[in-house]
Amino acid sequence: MTNCNEIPVIAAKLRAAWPSWHGLEAKARAQLLRAWQAALDQRRKAIVDALVQDTGRRLISENEFDAVQRRIGYWAERAPRLLHSVSSGDSKTAPSVRYEHHLHSLGIVGILSPWNVPLLLSIIDAVPALLAGCAVLLKPSEVTPRFVGPLRDSVEAIPDLAAAFEIVRGDGALGEAIVDNVDAVCFTGSTHTGRKVAARAGARLIPAFLELGGKDPLIVLEGADLDLAVAAALRGSVLNTGQACQSIERVYVAEGIFESFVNRLIEEAKQVRLHVSGASCGHLGPFIDPRQAEIVEAHLQEALAKGATQHCGEILHKREGVWCSPIVLTGVNHEMRVMRQESFAPVIPVMSFANEEQAVELANDSSYGLSAAVIGREDQAKEVGRKIHAGAVSINDCGLTTQVSDVEKDSFAESGVGQSRMGDAGLLRFLRKQALLIQTGDVLSIDAFIEDS
Ligand code: NAD
Repeated sequence: MTNCNEIPVIAAKLRAAWPSWHGLEAKARAQLLRAWQAALDQRRKAIVDALVQDTGRRLISENEFDAVQRRIGYWAERAPRLLHSVSSGDSKTAPSVRYEHHLHSLGIVGILSPWNVPLLLSIIDAVPALLAGCAVLLKPSEVTPRFVGPLRDSVEAIPDLAAAFEIVRGDGALGEAIVDNVDAVCFTGSTHTGRKVAARAGARLIPAFLELGGKDPLIVLEGADLDLAVAAALRGSVLNTGQACQSIERVYVAEGIFESFVNRLIEEAKQVRLHVSGASCGHLGPFIDPRQAEIVEAHLQEALAKGATQHCGEILHKREGVWCSPIVLTGVNHEMRVMRQESFAPVIPVMSFANEEQAVELANDSSYGLSAAVIGREDQAKEVGRKIHAGAVSINDCGLTTQVSDVEKDSFAESGVGQSRMGDAGLLRFLRKQALLIQTGDVLSIDAFIEDS
């Protein structure tokens, strides 16, 4: 564990290393990142095993590691071209003035990441920030700390990278010390903590990129392919035990198909198996943080007391952890917390709607705006999708932001602040644009401003 009073020292070290790092050609930084990719690969087993121990899931941990490798490859390929694009030209408003744009990296970027996808969400902003020429001070979540050791070893294997990239271990207090000592902060986590980070960063007038919580809606329109809708709804809601910001947390189904959709969903949900006898069998692992079960219990009890019906699913307390099989609820409404607050669990509350207008109204009745999904005839689904207040809307599937990382999207409402982490903006946001303004005509003399009355 790193002590809070070590952070100013670590930040000073990174600040001293930063000029050499951002002074490198973009291609040289990309090469160092590729060397890191190889060093990571040598530690694949150690990192994946650590993730399995902390999260109780093997396949998802392996996929997570592979996704990190793909991200590094993608950005190492893309960054030199993006950084080379210095634009220049003549001003339209002052034609005698030529301009040149130059890009300057932000300095030291602090990264604070959550426990639900511990490795990927630690690396997702670090890689483009480093390639943009920033130094990085990363603090992963204290809830899933085991992978940090082998991750740090992989960075230390590339000394030129290690000079600009520090990884520390600790809790929220360490996170606060980081915000107090860096030049910009990337935070992924709850909206509750995000507000505190934003206030702290705001007091220092440093940029804060916040990726926060969600309560993603799925709308299933009349005429939807029911097999597709049920498969997408179930996977989108329960994968990773629902511990994903882009999980479907509310489902709205057209009245005419409500009954058949719900019956098939219940049937499919009952087939989902838990990993209770080990991390490599079944579909769903335990709650990474068992305290999540208390939130689910509270949401459920309130919903049932207010008239909801639970068709399947249960919370299973075992010596090794707490599991939850998919819980399908009907008879729910927006007076219930299960429809308003993040469950972060495999809970699928389903409501019917009478017409599209009502479906959009229900989907938008939320303080969040991370992502959403619409299933139906493509033209109709797109029309409905455009009316939803969310940064990414999957059409005829759910949670496509987990598969697509090169398409920009912003977070709406209380789901985030700052430019997209996906697409080119994911790297360009770590750069400031400087304009050199070159006078090529006559210089105005002070006499041009004389007032002779
Ligand atoms: P959290 O807010 O509790 O913690 C996130 C990180 O912030 C951790 O590293 C934590 O130690 C640190 N932290 C805590 N208090 C802090 C403070 N006062 N100052 C600075 N840092 C502090 O979040 P969590 O419970 O780890 O993660 C789950 C949440 O993350 C959910 O709400 C989920 O929706 C959200 N999330 C969002 C995205 C996204 O891309 N929008 C992705 C994954 C998770």
